[in-house]
Amino acid sequence: MAFKSEHVETNCIHPLASKAGDPKTGAVNVPIYLSSTYHQESFDELGDFDYSRSGNPTRLALEQTIAKLEGGERGFAFASGMSAIASAFMLVSAGDHVIISRDVYGGTYRFITGILTKFNIGYSFVDMTNLSEIAAAIQPNTNVIYIETPSNPCLNITDIEGVVKLAKENNCLTFLDNTFMTPLYQRPLRLGVDVVLHSATKFLSGHSDIIAGLAVTKSTDLGEKLAFVQNTFGAILGAEDSYRLLQGIKTLGARVNQSSAAAEKIACYLQEHPLIEEVFYPGLNTHPGHSVHLRQTKGHGAVLSFRLPNRALTKAFVENIEVPVFAVSLGAVESILSYPATMSHAAMPKEEREKRGITDGLLRLSVGLEHVDDLIADMDQALTTAAVVGSQAIVK
Ligand SMILES: *Cc1c(COP(=O)(O)O)cnc(C)c1O
Repeated sequence: MAFKSEHVETNCIHPLASKAGDPKTGAVNVPIYLSSTYHQESFDELGDFDYSRSGNPTRLALEQTIAKLEGGERGFAFASGMSAIASAFMLVSAGDHVIISRDVYGGTYRFITGILTKFNIGYSFVDMTNLSEIAAAIQPNTNVIYIETPSNPCLNITDIEGVVKLAKENNCLTFLDNTFMTPLYQRPLRLGVDVVLHSATKFLSGHSDIIAGLAVTKSTDLGEKLAFVQNTFGAILGAEDSYRLLQGIKTLGARVNQSSAAAEKIACYLQEHPLIEEVFYPGLNTHPGHSVHLRQTKGHGAVLSFRLPNRALTKAFVENIEVPVFAVSLGAVESILSYPATMSHAAMPKEEREKRGITDGLLRLSVGLEHVDDLIADMDQALTTAAVVGSQAIVK
């Protein structure tokens, strides 16, 4: 396409060189190429595709799409967010050391502590909101700093450029899990990050229908290294799910802009409610990371967390809420309410969890596309009922 846009909304619809998904026929959508192998016309030279683990045209269209949206050199599609993250960590070697956000996604925590250690790769978890704590954790063999911002589930904000500067001074790569913001709101490669990772299961696909992961490298050199890992490790996304993800990405702008506007209203509503102890949302000016977040993003996102006083009230609230589904995951058309203590962070010991603020009263809400007035009315009735349960508990 000759028209060049700076807007992610436009590029989500027209990511590729041709306006058609299939330049051969003009079909608007990218075809689903269900073929593991490819006939070779020439005895001497293999064509662009030979085997679908190494490359598949539908997956390639997706990989080019995410590379364009993130502004990177190479994109890669994996079978899950975790396989994208695990594959990126295959870029390190035995004897290396990595530094990770303390409140990282539970599955990433499990991978670092349960798998990487088998290969003699050391790690330090740090408070990524604190640059001097990161600097103090850097060792001579540190070669990756891994950021999640906003982090899960307390929405802590990391100063991306601050970490990149530290990393470059110490010859480290920076990886960033951009699942919560998506390229619509945050473009980490522009801020100097080397590898962006996604659980595309969430906002990018947007419909709670597939598990998928994406990675994008800033440089061609890292791109070649990750392509080697992708082909060797083999945790690729299939053609049908690649197609579904491409379709999901087309509506990213509309979905995330609407959900974020609703999340902002809900965060303000919860902040005023007497039963809520704390609201975590980077769009609130009371959020400690608010100004850093504003500097490095174009939006606040659709995920927020809030704290009720105890487990009993939390249970009563969840049992009375009617609109959101009560489930793990986030980033979908339906609002999703989760209980991090037993869901996303179940892999973490209680003591580690509580250090990260994941108490028994913490709930996370991923705001979907229902009307915001319905969502607020529903929360209001569930909180009122929970308050009654709470006062009865005191009377007893
Ligand atoms: C869900 C999630 C992951 C893991 O992705 P899967 O697609 O479930 O493998 C990683 N990081 C974040 C921030 C997530 O929310």
